[in-house]
Amino acid sequence: MKITTANFLKSAMAREHYPKDRKPEFAFVGRSNVGKSTLLNLLLGKKGLAKTSGTPGKTRCVNFFEVNGKLYFVDLPGYGYAKVSKAMKSEWNALMYAYLRERGPLRMVVALMDARHKPTDKDLHMLELLEGAEVPTLIVATKIDKVKRSQRRKHLAVIQETLGLEGDDCIIPFSAVSGEGQRELWQVIDGLL
Ligand code: GDP
Repeated sequence: MKITTANFLKSAMAREHYPKDRKPEFAFVGRSNVGKSTLLNLLLGKKGLAKTSGTPGKTRCVNFFEVNGKLYFVDLPGYGYAKVSKAMKSEWNALMYAYLRERGPLRMVVALMDARHKPTDKDLHMLELLEGAEVPTLIVATKIDKVKRSQRRKHLAVIQETLGLEGDDCIIPFSAVSGEGQRELWQVIDGLL
């Protein structure tokens, strides 16, 4: 898809504040530092549009970006910060439930995993939430440029196995450095529009 416009629309803390015009939505989620804002900015061709989730305070909002006036990209709060209180964890869960449950326009959640590491319990928890909500999910392995060519298959297999994915569930390797995976990811999104 050729991007003509990509703009931040709003941050929502509660369902009542989500857009009501029912444009198709594609949501992105992952552990803090996984490369979510970098990926969003690359896909949308605008540096600095999505802000890095470096601080736990950002766990509080669901951010909507309007793309080409016809769909939304939704930046879901990151998880897995080292220092987070129990209260914040339950806030994150509540926000995710609120968003995922009965969100009609949601076409797919793109769940980001760092290609270098085995998915954590928190990643698994995230996928369980998505399964529970019966939302189509696509796994993207970020920072693939940091994995040696000879190690790629192994790393992708570890992610596949740890997440319990079926053989034909594909994982898209992605790199913001080389641009790898960008076209494939857009193809999946376009296919759902
Ligand atoms: P977020 O917390 O998930 O939004 O993560 P960021 O997008 O802020 O990225 C965290 C760090 O990883 C930053 O230093 C990025 O420059 C770096 N990063 C993100 N994507 C890539 C990538 O594809 N390759 C490499 N080598 N570094 C990346």
